[in-house]
Amino acid sequence: MDVELKVDYTSCYRYSMKICVVGAGINGLSSALHVQEACPKADIMLMSEKFSPNTTSDVSGGLWSPHLVDVMKQPIVRIWAKETLDHLVKLARSRDAGLIGARFLSGYRLPKRDPWFRDLVFGYRYMTEDELKLFPEVEPREGEFYTTVTLDVRSYLQWLLARYKANNGKILKRKVNSWKR
Ligand SMILES: Cc1cc2nc3c(=O)[nH]c(=O)nc-3n(C[C@H](O)[C@H](O)[C@H](O)COP(=O)(O)OP(=O)(O)OC[C@H]3O[C@@H](n4cnc5c(N)ncnc54)[C@H](O)[C@@H]3O)c2cc1C
Repeated sequence: MDVELKVDYTSCYRYSMKICVVGAGINGLSSALHVQEACPKADIMLMSEKFSPNTTSDVSGGLWSPHLVDVMKQPIVRIWAKETLDHLVKLARSRDAGLIGARFLSGYRLPKRDPWFRDLVFGYRYMTEDELKLFPEVEPREGEFYTTVTLDVRSYLQWLLARYKANNGKILKRKVNSWKR
């Protein structure tokens, strides 16, 4: 199924709006910074109960390898995943790569899974007989090799927050108990 991802920022670009982003994990912080850049006239508040280092994102491995997602059921995830990978590749090539630990990571995975994203990662191939000899205990005797991107999520959260604050982004430490008010 073909899916298209379109975000229309026209009205927020033209008019000053009040926008509240809830959550300061990787999704909330990335969204707050993105909205801030896309809607320079908007009055943006990032509200969250917890901030780094106390979010789930802080303990994430930061590896791009979305094998738990079923893209047949949710085709739009393929677009999000590809955009995320492109973004991570840009970060790994950027001047700040060292600061946020963004880097290419190559490795074996046994047994092989023929993941849906094998055409998105770099150099996907099956392991050779010689390579399989490195792991004599693993059955079935098949594996895969590819290169993806990883980053140090805790450093990245701090980097995102610093950029958001430098753009005069407001933050509020508060738990949302109800959407009514
Ligand atoms: C051990 C581990 C390893 C992982 N490794 C990987 C990996 O290698 N690659 C990968 O892609 N994924 C990995 N993940 C998954 C990844 O960590 C999560 O998908 C990701 O962190 C989710 O980010 P998030 O911003 O949506 O949520 P969170 O990081 O959980 O942030 C949620 C934010 O919302 C705030 N919040 C929640 N409720 C409220 C409320 N009512 N009011 C106000 N604020 C609220 C919280 O305080 C927090 O700031 C891993 C997860 C774990 C646990």
